[in-house]
Amino acid sequence: MSEGFVDLHLHSTRSDGSSTPTEVVERAAGLGLEVISLTDHDSVEGVEEARAAGDRLGVGVVAGAELSAHLDKRDVHILAYFIDPTHEPLKSCLQMYRDERQNRAARIVKKLNQMGVRITFEQVLAKAEGGAIGRPHVADVLVEEGFCFSPNDAFGKYLAYGKPAYESKYVMEPAEAVEVIHDAGGIAVIAHPALYGDDELLPQLAADGVDGIEVFHIKHNAGSVDRYSNFARENGLLISGGSDCHGDGRGDAVMGKVAVARSVYDALEEGWRARLSA
Ligand code: AMP
Ligand code: ZN
Ligand code: FE
Ligand code: FE
Repeated sequence: MSEGFVDLHLHSTRSDGSSTPTEVVERAAGLGLEVISLTDHDSVEGVEEARAAGDRLGVGVVAGAELSAHLDKRDVHILAYFIDPTHEPLKSCLQMYRDERQNRAARIVKKLNQMGVRITFEQVLAKAEGGAIGRPHVADVLVEEGFCFSPNDAFGKYLAYGKPAYESKYVMEPAEAVEVIHDAGGIAVIAHPALYGDDELLPQLAADGVDGIEVFHIKHNAGSVDRYSNFARENGLLISGGSDCHGDGRGDAVMGKVAVARSVYDALEEGWRARLSA
C-alpha cells in the first residue's frame, strides 16, 4: 500500500499568500494531499473557511499559524499546530501582532517616502486585503509602481534585514510564543531552521519549550534534513514539514513539492495527544 502525503506549512490571503483558504484546500485536494495545515503569519482567521472546504473535499485541515518571535534580534518563526482557533487569548494576541504589523508597514512606507520612493500606505493596505500585512505586500506595490523589478529585488534593495527601509516588528520572546500556543491547546514547532543561518539558536529554542522542529521545507536540502532530523532525535522533538507555499501570485506555487509522508503527520498528532494528556 502506498503512503499518502501531507503539507503542513501553507499561507493564504489571510496573511501574505495569494490564494484564499478555500483555493489552498482545492489545490491540496487536486494534488491528492491527505492532510494540510493552514499556517498564516500571525493569524488563525482562515482556518474555519479551510476546514469547511476540507470537509467538502476530503482533506484533513489542521488549525495552524506561524508566529514571529525574536531571538538575539533575529526573526525566528514558530509554527503552531492543533491550536483552538476560537481561543480568545490566542486570538487577541494575534490581533495585537497584526495591529503591530500595520504600524510597522506604515513606518516602512514612511522610510521609503523619505528616500523618494513614492508609494502610499493605502496601496499597501489594499494589497493585504484585510489579512496580516507583511513586507511582501509592500514589495508588490514597489513592483507595481515600477520601483523594483521583482519582489526579490524589493527585498534586496529596501525591505530585507539591514536594508534602508527595514523595520522590525515586535519583540516577543520565543518562550512567550510557546506559552501562547500551549495555552491554546497546541504544539509549537521551530519553522525552517535552515533559513536562520545559525544552528546555535536551536538549543535555546529547545530550552524555550518548543515541541518540534520543521525538518522538511522547500529551502532545506538533504544535508539540512539530516541535520535537523538528528537534532530532533537528540532533543526529543517532534518532526514536521511542509512547502511554505504562498500561492502562484507570490513566486511559484510549491504546494506538495516537498514530500512529507503521512506518517510524519501521524507522529506529530500522536505527540500532540500525548502532550495534552501529560
Ligand atoms: P514579514 O512577515 O513582513 O516580516 O515578511 C516576511 C515574509 O516575506 C516571509 O514569510 C516571506 O514570505 C517573504 N520574503 C522574505 N524574504 C523574501 C525575498 N527575498 N523575496 C520575496 N519574499 C521574501
Ligand atoms: Zn510569508
Ligand atoms: Fe516563515
Ligand atoms: Fe511560512
